[in-house]
Amino acid sequence: EESASLNFIEQIIADDLAAGFDPKKLRFRFPPEPNGYLHIGHAASICLNFGLGEKHNAPVNLRFDDTNPSKEEQEYVDAIKYDVQWLGFQWAQECYSSDYFQQMYDWAIQLIKEGKAYVDQQSAEAMAEQKGTPTTPGVASPYRDRSVEENLDLFERMKAGEFEQGTYVLRAKIDMASPNMLMRDPLLYRIVRKAHHRTGTDWCIYPMYDWAHGESDYIEQVSHSLCTLEFKMHRELYDWFLDQIYDPALLRPKQREFARRNLSYTVMSKRKLLELVQTKTVSGWDDPRMPTISGLRRRGYTPESIRHFSELSGISKRDSVTDVSLLEYCIREDLNKTATRVMAVLDPVKLVITNYPEGKTEMLTAENNPEDPNSGTHEVPFSRELYIEREDFKEEAGSKFFRLTLGNEVRLKSAYIIKGDSVVKDQDGNITEIHCTADLDSRSGSGTEASMRKVKGTLHWVSIQHAITAEVREYDRLFLDEAPDSHEDKNFMEFVNPESLKVIKEAYLEPFLKEATLDDKYQFQRLGYFTLDKDSTADQLVFNKTVGLRDSWAK
Ligand code: ATP
Ligand code: MG
Ligand code: MG
Repeated sequence: EESASLNFIEQIIADDLAAGFDPKKLRFRFPPEPNGYLHIGHAASICLNFGLGEKHNAPVNLRFDDTNPSKEEQEYVDAIKYDVQWLGFQWAQECYSSDYFQQMYDWAIQLIKEGKAYVDQQSAEAMAEQKGTPTTPGVASPYRDRSVEENLDLFERMKAGEFEQGTYVLRAKIDMASPNMLMRDPLLYRIVRKAHHRTGTDWCIYPMYDWAHGESDYIEQVSHSLCTLEFKMHRELYDWFLDQIYDPALLRPKQREFARRNLSYTVMSKRKLLELVQTKTVSGWDDPRMPTISGLRRRGYTPESIRHFSELSGISKRDSVTDVSLLEYCIREDLNKTATRVMAVLDPVKLVITNYPEGKTEMLTAENNPEDPNSGTHEVPFSRELYIEREDFKEEAGSKFFRLTLGNEVRLKSAYIIKGDSVVKDQDGNITEIHCTADLDSRSGSGTEASMRKVKGTLHWVSIQHAITAEVREYDRLFLDEAPDSHEDKNFMEFVNPESLKVIKEAYLEPFLKEATLDDKYQFQRLGYFTLDKDSTADQLVFNKTVGLRDSWAK
């Protein structure tokens, strides 16, 4: 009866266990290529693999699939480790495909000796042409029948660095007529003349993904190698490679595929994210508009919200696009429970309480979080001159305007009920001050009858004299199109939203925020959720808007 709640990957494992698979042999891996930062799509795979590990109390390796030195860097390795741990997971072993280069090389020698691999020296174009089409068989390479001796000699010389990049390759000798194009003598090795971030210049031949991946799974004795759907056709090759080398006394890994996670209004391939970085369309991999884990973290997302999102978006057999508003829902839900409520004014207009004594400061008590009874309170200074949001006042307004107008009352949050009296304007007619009177018996929490009075609106505010200033960055979608990389006739870069970043140079914050640290989460009341940005300095705080209080996109 459990099966109704299992996703199909969990079901595959449940079936294997039911068929007698030893649960102690379950082992998983998350296998990123260190050629970029992790994104929210990777989080699906991380949560799946580490989630299975937790569920079955089985080890999960972090395996760096580092077989292409032309794109990989130590910086990416470090960032990936940080992100996986930040998400809340701990790997059993930190592994690198590059640690297996010698073993893979030895197996390649074995294949050559068995007549199952050969060195080719044609151009990439010629080999592609010979591959044929899915409905017509390919043509054998003129080098397909080299002698074992000649192949061994050439392969050793490839390894020794005698040949230029792009000249010789080692190919598996499988079947040039296979209906699966990937089985038509796929490449095993190519020459790449670039230092590797771990093996330096020890190697100049590097294994191809298909050859390296399954063999790495086998070396680590991974039981279930979970990858995304585009590798479905590769499974036959994965199995063929294992057939050549595996010892029946050991565990034989199996590959299973699930759908990639896509997210609306963004792109997810590392190549495209790198393009955004390199063209300076964004400030870096961790720009708060990026769908990377580091970008989301900087934006104010929590590990819990990303894990919850993974759970809700699920694991599926078919490709689909998850609406980004689901991600926003997850962070909003989490921050509603945990974020400290504070007041900040982003577009200020001066409010003077004419019946409040000049020079007086009163410390008022503000609840940190009404959703959390244990969150406590903090003090907010109140004085005669405040800032409120410009849009919270109209001289005259209809009955649906629940904010301040002349002659009407509103409550100042955690403070008094005030009534608008008059305005001061500059020569151009812009309001420079609003004058009002407070009902000095109505202080919130004072228990007086006046404090219980209901008025139709509550405004946030800051005391001008006590406020600190900060830069506030607000973000919109990075792309204007729902699926920017799905257009045949247009490059995804054409859909970049030129107004995705709005900077407010001088916002006014209650002084409590002086103590903010990078991990703190705040709700700026009535405005949304905010977090400190790493660009902050002692003199200039910078806050990022994580998400609004409600979904405003649809409206
Ligand atoms: P990209 O195209 O973004 O570079 P990739 O698949 O090449 O992605 P890898 O570093 O090889 O990136 O991915 C590590 C693991 O994460 C793989 O098992 C891969 O299948 C999985 N993964 C990558 N992108 C997604 C995604 N969008 N949804 C689910 N899993 C993903
Ligand atoms: Mg990959
Ligand atoms: Mg890739």
